[in-house]
Amino acid sequence: MDGYLHSIESMGLVDGPGVRSVVFLSGCLLRCRYCHNPDTWKEGMGTRISPRQLVDKLRRFMPYYRSGGGVTFSGGEPLLQPEFLGEALRLARQAGIHTCIDTSGVGRAEDGQYREILANTSLVLYDVKHYLPDEYLKLTGMPMDETARFLQIAQEMQVPMWIRHVVVPGLTDGEEHLAGLRKFVDGLSCVERVELLPYHRLGVHKYETMKLAYSLADTPVMNPDVCAGLQKKYFAEYTAK
Ligand code: SF4
Repeated sequence: MDGYLHSIESMGLVDGPGVRSVVFLSGCLLRCRYCHNPDTWKEGMGTRISPRQLVDKLRRFMPYYRSGGGVTFSGGEPLLQPEFLGEALRLARQAGIHTCIDTSGVGRAEDGQYREILANTSLVLYDVKHYLPDEYLKLTGMPMDETARFLQIAQEMQVPMWIRHVVVPGLTDGEEHLAGLRKFVDGLSCVERVELLPYHRLGVHKYETMKLAYSLADTPVMNPDVCAGLQKKYFAEYTAK
């Protein structure tokens, strides 16, 4: 059950609490219009590694994890390699490492595999692309059913969750939209935090290199201060103190 890694960031500070190793797994089924990592989309690419080899690597960083950090599995989409992910999470937790997954909830796994993954996950960073099915489809190219199934299981298992949402000018920055997002979040349990992330254009050059069309070519970046204002207005209770 080897996995395919796109890359590892050893001292991540933005993908979960504390200092973290961020393990980017290859493959993603979504095609989010704002994605800045199209180079992670293809499955079966990158470095092949076993769960044990990976966790042995992570152990070396344990002194840094004392800050309350640990490992975050990201991507691409980590749920696309459910067997590898499940075993890597199990071994990481066994080694005393705090475990987190950064996911859109769109994997390729049976309910039972999602349950095994979540049983060894301390925190889910759940990326809400959109809360309305039609808009979700337009933004990602996929129907909402798969992410809804994952969310349902995570809720049943009461796994702590941080919600993340990318705020794109003209697409997801409207007052009505954010009020709707707040309502959606209030309907969930175990949400500890909400992070509104301002849209940026740092990955646009990758589309050019890969000769892919970029549908947000005319969309400006999201002003971080305006985004922080929206965070305060709509999600003050869900913001890190
Ligand atoms: S889920 Fe993440 S990696 Fe996949 S297309 Fe969306 S932003 Fe890109």
